[in-house]
Amino acid sequence: MRSIEPWASGNGAGSVARMGTLAYIAMGSNLGDRGETLMRAVKMLSEIPGVSVRRLSQFMRTEPVGGPEDQPPYLNAAVEAEVDLAPRELLAALQDIERQLGRDRSKEKRWGPRTCDLDILMMGETVLQDEPELILPHPRMHERTFVLEPLAAIAPEAVNPAS
Ligand code: ATP
Ligand code: MG
Ligand code: MG
Repeated sequence: MRSIEPWASGNGAGSVARMGTLAYIAMGSNLGDRGETLMRAVKMLSEIPGVSVRRLSQFMRTEPVGGPEDQPPYLNAAVEAEVDLAPRELLAALQDIERQLGRDRSKEKRWGPRTCDLDILMMGETVLQDEPELILPHPRMHERTFVLEPLAAIAPEAVNPAS
């Protein structure tokens, strides 16, 4: 696992360290070449203007939770990124990546198999509870080992602002 300290950008007299918001993103895939999909997702994330990927967890093989029976196992991972986007802009960019990686929600069952799921877990101190399109922190993150394990691996210090 590669870690880059987020506060290490800019130091000394005169330099302006402009910090974006730290966002944590959960990635999951259980269709197709899952490792390749997650690698491509990270690369595409890093290419979004205003997003700078800081840390990436290992890819963890997990059993599906919820949804239809007999799904293939998942690969899950977590990413820490410094983001200069509004939360909805980040969500739109993630959904664009999901589509480019072959996801078609109109053909899916809830929590069914998918090529790529990218969820925003937390974004700085932002708490959004009013619209189902974007709830922050992610409402089910605390009950999911497949989210919490990779997150703890890259950000043991991360604090859920809603708790
Ligand atoms: P879960 O949210 O339980 O992990 P899922 O990821 O399988 O389920 P999706 O089909 O990917 O569900 O997304 C369903 C909707 O959730 C999306 O249309 C999106 O607008 C909404 N949503 C709400 N909050 C978030 C969030 N924090 N991150 C990503 N999507 C979110
Ligand atoms: Mg999800
Ligand atoms: Mg999702």
